[in-house]
Amino acid sequence: MAKYVYDFTEGNRNLKDLLGGKGANLAEMTNLGLPVPPGFTITTEACRHYLAEGSVPDGLDQEVAGHLEALESQIGRSLGQADDPLLVSVRSGAKFSMPGMMETVLNIGLNDESVHGLAKQAGGNERFAWDSYRRLIQMFGKTVLGIDGDLFERALDALKGKRQDTDLDTGELQGLVETYKGIVREQTGKDFPADPREQMRLAVMAVFDSWNAPRAILYRRQERIPADLGTAVNIMAMVFGNYGDDSGTGVAFTRDPGSGRQGIYGDYLQNAQGEDVVAGIRNTIPLEDLERLDKDSYDELLGIMRTLENHYRDLCDIEFTIERGRLWMLQTRVGKRTAAAAFSIATQLVDQGLITMDEAVTRVTGDQLAQLMFPRFDGGAPKKKIAKGMNASPGAAVGKAVFSSERAVELSEQGEDVILVRRETNPDDLAGMIAAKGILTSRGGKTSHAAVVARGMGKTCVCGAEELEVRTAEQRFIAPGDVVVSEGDVISIDGTTGEVFLGEVAVVDSAVVEYFEGAEPDDELVRAVDRVMRHADGARRLGVRANADTPEDAARARRFGAEGIGLCRTEHMFLGERRQLVEDLVLAATDADRQAALDALEPLQKSDFTGIFQAMNGDPVTIRLIDPPLHEFLPDIVDLSIKAAKDEATEKDHKLLTAVKRLHEQNPMLGLRGVRLGLVIPGLFTMQVRAIAQAAKEVPGSKAEIMIPLVAAVQELEAVREEAVKILADVGVEALIGTMIEVPRAALTAGQIAEAAEFFSFGTNDMTQMAWGFSRDDVEAAFFSRYLDLGIFGVSPFETLDREGVGRLMEIAVAEGRAARPDLHLGICGEHGGDPDSVHFCHEVGLDYVSCSPFRIPVARLEAGRAALAETDSDTR
Ligand code: ADP
Ligand code: MG
Ligand code: MG
Repeated sequence: MAKYVYDFTEGNRNLKDLLGGKGANLAEMTNLGLPVPPGFTITTEACRHYLAEGSVPDGLDQEVAGHLEALESQIGRSLGQADDPLLVSVRSGAKFSMPGMMETVLNIGLNDESVHGLAKQAGGNERFAWDSYRRLIQMFGKTVLGIDGDLFERALDALKGKRQDTDLDTGELQGLVETYKGIVREQTGKDFPADPREQMRLAVMAVFDSWNAPRAILYRRQERIPADLGTAVNIMAMVFGNYGDDSGTGVAFTRDPGSGRQGIYGDYLQNAQGEDVVAGIRNTIPLEDLERLDKDSYDELLGIMRTLENHYRDLCDIEFTIERGRLWMLQTRVGKRTAAAAFSIATQLVDQGLITMDEAVTRVTGDQLAQLMFPRFDGGAPKKKIAKGMNASPGAAVGKAVFSSERAVELSEQGEDVILVRRETNPDDLAGMIAAKGILTSRGGKTSHAAVVARGMGKTCVCGAEELEVRTAEQRFIAPGDVVVSEGDVISIDGTTGEVFLGEVAVVDSAVVEYFEGAEPDDELVRAVDRVMRHADGARRLGVRANADTPEDAARARRFGAEGIGLCRTEHMFLGERRQLVEDLVLAATDADRQAALDALEPLQKSDFTGIFQAMNGDPVTIRLIDPPLHEFLPDIVDLSIKAAKDEATEKDHKLLTAVKRLHEQNPMLGLRGVRLGLVIPGLFTMQVRAIAQAAKEVPGSKAEIMIPLVAAVQELEAVREEAVKILADVGVEALIGTMIEVPRAALTAGQIAEAAEFFSFGTNDMTQMAWGFSRDDVEAAFFSRYLDLGIFGVSPFETLDREGVGRLMEIAVAEGRAARPDLHLGICGEHGGDPDSVHFCHEVGLDYVSCSPFRIPVARLEAGRAALAETDSDTR
């Protein structure tokens, strides 16, 4: 028969799935011999059954009754017994900590009779007994009976006036209990349930139900905690911090969760119970002052904290209560910490001999590292918030508001810091985005153009700040309250929180980025990061390359640890002044005209590549031949039509308009682009290949890899390959020729394609779009939040690689590609290459490298190391 209840002596910390974190750790502490009030845990399995079926599983009631009986005989009192009651708490506790999100009820077992018994038990302390009773009705009323908690709060406030809760005397507390009972009667039409067992049973179900409280659901979504785990319920004997001044309750950390430093960190509140200490009802005292109040308990507590740290080999946080000079442990867990503390603690624990360097690497995450790489606002600085948008790309940026890409470039060339403000950005804003310190948009979500590009560049971005009315033509925006910000006015944006501030807020630079840029590690945090990174690099099997299109990006990527370029896009090289040449190419009426346009482009392309080869100094550079449809390089159809209508169009404008109309596509994503362009426009790809070959020849030691995009069939690749091989031979250089695997058909026919490809690079952005059949730019605003609500995916498949679908295609391509060509080199160059979970997947399917934007390279290095160590790490946590 299923077992749904575990005594604290039966569990241990590895049973978090079943007992929840709180229950598992209470059991662990019990078995360590620490002073934990006795109790037992109802499993998450029982909760899942209850939530699915609407009733508790068969046998649970009897099992709980059995454990309660054992608890009663251990303590020598029975639950709610009139003359000498046992009281219990009923506490939630899921696998992952969800602080304060679910319910807990204290002092269960009190009623009009047992309150007298409790007073007697406490040596005639009537005040304490009635204080406990009013607390029970208040907590039970709110969490179990669903009464608005403010009703109780208001009654308490009215009674207290300016006094504190501890100033209320017995008579007043008795009156308060009557008032509370009245509120219960009025709100529910029933009396407060006096039967202790009934109280306990109802509280257990209320804790189960609290798993699906709206705030719990919201928290889970934010923290990416699965929705179907359920919570355990812990029932334990009460101990009392509200006896009087010789009692109290507190919280503590075994070291500073902000910096990782060892020391005494905690708060204590005399004559208090449960949440009082964090609820701020009275001023707490620093934990070190407990030494003065109760030296024995204090010393014992410090000893226990050392025991816990050595046992868990990590920072722990704890909750404790002192009852008349006796210390009780009520909770512990491996504590949350800031990103900076995570690195410091991991290396400190190594130095203390508690963990190995391998473990230290697994104790920090790429997300934490990324957080340390962004500048941030000084927490104490004064701020005037004017709007809030989405936290699209973290960091802090301050500058003058500008409303066009050109102005951004102009002002930044004059040495000004600017924030580019747009309704939304498009590829033409790129120069302005690069020039700006930060980007602010009023439209678009976390996968909008602005957000994706900014994240890739490691640039601060707040997007979709819908309260802002951006009037680009007037060069200003209007914030709520008629705040007008015009070009040149200074604003500050926080990409970590999505907040927008008026004026300048002080910013602190990231020392970690300075370190990656080459500075000597000179403070504790940076030294910790340095040690962790070195160890991760030594452990990882995946190579890490960069997506970089310019010599500057390439150079930075190399400083950040890139071992090559996995994706050099060539389309940016056709923008700006060179648009002219693309227009000539499109408008070419004869073969000769077309060749002339290509001939003009070739030397420009060659010098682009020379710069990148030089920057990479002999490391491989994968260059992707032109990918987007050519109409992306032409003027906007609307602009041209207006010009034509106004009779302002030149002869060329008319020709362009005709061309734009001819090239217009319903579905550009699936249109004339990638390898199809190379096959349809004679000379385009060969021009690029020749430019690459000549550049490679000019820079000795350079390693070029030519990559063909959007291939779906081996025949496409063979056609391009044949010409490319000839050109390479002509120029007299060697280069690998390979393909992107981004069209599902390519993955499914990878065995054939590998016959013509020396390497594969997975283009998982396009592959995600095509596998799901939706276009990134259209779907996010339209229905992604609904899909997240429905649990169709837990996280956008554009952020984290969809293992089941897109991942499956990759697995097929890896297996069949390697079967056909054992030395096939495999990488990924989609945005996913810098996403922690996706990096782990790439490690697992056996890719040779991941490629990501320069700023994500340290993250990818760290996660690649963690992925390799996770394989060998049996049980470290
Ligand atoms: P949360 O998960 O929100 O922290 P808890 O279940 O930890 O909720 O309960 C909140 C507080 O109630 C605890 O920190 C502790 O101070 C108090 N508490 C819980 N159980 C008991 C108990 N058996 N005796 C005394 N205090 C308790
Ligand atoms: Mg707690
Ligand atoms: Mg693509």
